[in-house]
Amino acid sequence: MSYYTLAEGCPYARNDTSVQVRNGSGGGLVLLQDTQLIETLAHFSRERIPERVVHAKAAGAYGVFECTHDCTDITSASFLNTVGKKTEVLWRVSTVGPESGSADTTRDVHGWAMKLYTDQGNLDWVFNNTPVFFVRDPIKFPSLNRSHKRNPRTHRPDANMFWDFHVGNPEGIHELMHLFSDRGTPASLRHMNAYSGHTYKFTKEDGSFKYIKVHIKSQLGVKNMSADESTRIAGENPDFLLQDVFDAIEQGNYPVWNVYVQVMDPKEAETYKWNIFDMTKVWPHQDFPLRQIGKLTLNRNPQNYFTDIEQASFSPSTMVPGWAPSADPMLQARMFAYPDAARYRLGTNYQMLPTNKARAPVYCPFQRDGFMNFSTNYGEDPNYVGSSLRPTTFAVSATGKPLGSTITEHEKWVGEISSFTSTVHQDDFEQARGLWKVLGREPGHQDRYISNVSGNIKNVTSKELREKVYYLYHCVDPQLGQRIKTATEAQIA
Ligand code: NDP
Repeated sequence: MSYYTLAEGCPYARNDTSVQVRNGSGGGLVLLQDTQLIETLAHFSRERIPERVVHAKAAGAYGVFECTHDCTDITSASFLNTVGKKTEVLWRVSTVGPESGSADTTRDVHGWAMKLYTDQGNLDWVFNNTPVFFVRDPIKFPSLNRSHKRNPRTHRPDANMFWDFHVGNPEGIHELMHLFSDRGTPASLRHMNAYSGHTYKFTKEDGSFKYIKVHIKSQLGVKNMSADESTRIAGENPDFLLQDVFDAIEQGNYPVWNVYVQVMDPKEAETYKWNIFDMTKVWPHQDFPLRQIGKLTLNRNPQNYFTDIEQASFSPSTMVPGWAPSADPMLQARMFAYPDAARYRLGTNYQMLPTNKARAPVYCPFQRDGFMNFSTNYGEDPNYVGSSLRPTTFAVSATGKPLGSTITEHEKWVGEISSFTSTVHQDDFEQARGLWKVLGREPGHQDRYISNVSGNIKNVTSKELREKVYYLYHCVDPQLGQRIKTATEAQIA
């Protein structure tokens, strides 16, 4: 058992009393020389790091990804090159809008972040429990999130802001169909599926690639809470989802998910009905069936929440050879925004923190110094490129090809510089309509959707705005629009 010391390692006799000049048994004057007291108080007021502006409330765990099927025809990614190969994983699942202290059963999209510590460096999957998203132009991302958070004056969540944003940016209708379905309130994180949303690329050493979307499906199946249950539990146990997954892992009841990809040839993408870089659209299963690549098992709780989960950072830009980004504008923007958020929240050397540190060897001597650098900082190695004194060596594959995640030869881009338009057309409602029909396959689900969404719209104080919301749903299906209107107005009258 180690003995108590100050942070510099010096043994100290007591930890429960300040040093005082005393007169008899009454109070005394504390002294500036009481280093223990000063350090204790000063550290306490610095204990909090900036909370994530989105995805603040989260559960986290460690686990293992296992390659279950031969994938070598579609990717050269090392973690997928042998059936049975296992890769350690860090997993963090969150709500999006509410703060770290909020109730985790609140209706929301759920973020699904994973760090795969592969033998060729880290690969981050920064996904959601829905296959689509509210916007497809990254300029709208901060606005979207502000409209889902607190009113700048009342400091309360505000249905007027929420619906005003969505009426003005109707490309989000497909995601709204997901959000107010039963899946907006999962019964547990173990019973939740997740999706890459974005299109990514699987690449091979010869420079060829396939477009892919990832699907992660719980072996326990999908299970959700009713709106009433989620509200009740939010009051009774605001950490219900965190506790459920922690307790399950602690008891050895390890949750398992199957991991699949949909695979599209680049040639098919050119003529496909849907723009595959539009994050408000899925690839229908019948066009692109799921193909299993692996399975994920969570089997270890964090030893400390702050160091393992709060200090974890995830970014879609963290990728390995064999895996590459697509031209989805949202993805491209996230590849900047996520590491930037980590630099702000954790500091410039956040990649050195134990939970973020690659398990593969790292040699990155052109990124050095900076606050809180606790590496050997590459000693006297050149800190400039092109050195003949100590030339840099580069990794090559078994066949002698250079390794690098973003190198793909068969992609040529030609175009004009213009604003990206997110004008909404009739076909933007087609997949939302498809989901409305999918909900109809399950008894009562459409009724619950109406109840969930009308329970929210009833808080919109402007009648004019409510009418616009009904029209938004009318575009999905006239009956749906009418049913929402009837249910909502009945709660207001
Ligand atoms: P399919 O009829 O082939 O499959 C429908 C899919 O919908 C299911 O595989 C299931 O995905 C998902 N689903 C089932 N119930 C619900 C629900 N209550 N809430 C949300 N999703 C549910 O459909 P398509 O592929 O042609 O897509 C039709 C609609 O299904 C889409 O508009 C989309 O919104 C939704 N969907 C499609 C996905 C896709 O990638 N194609 C993925 C998820 C939803 P899963 O088993 O993955 O949970």
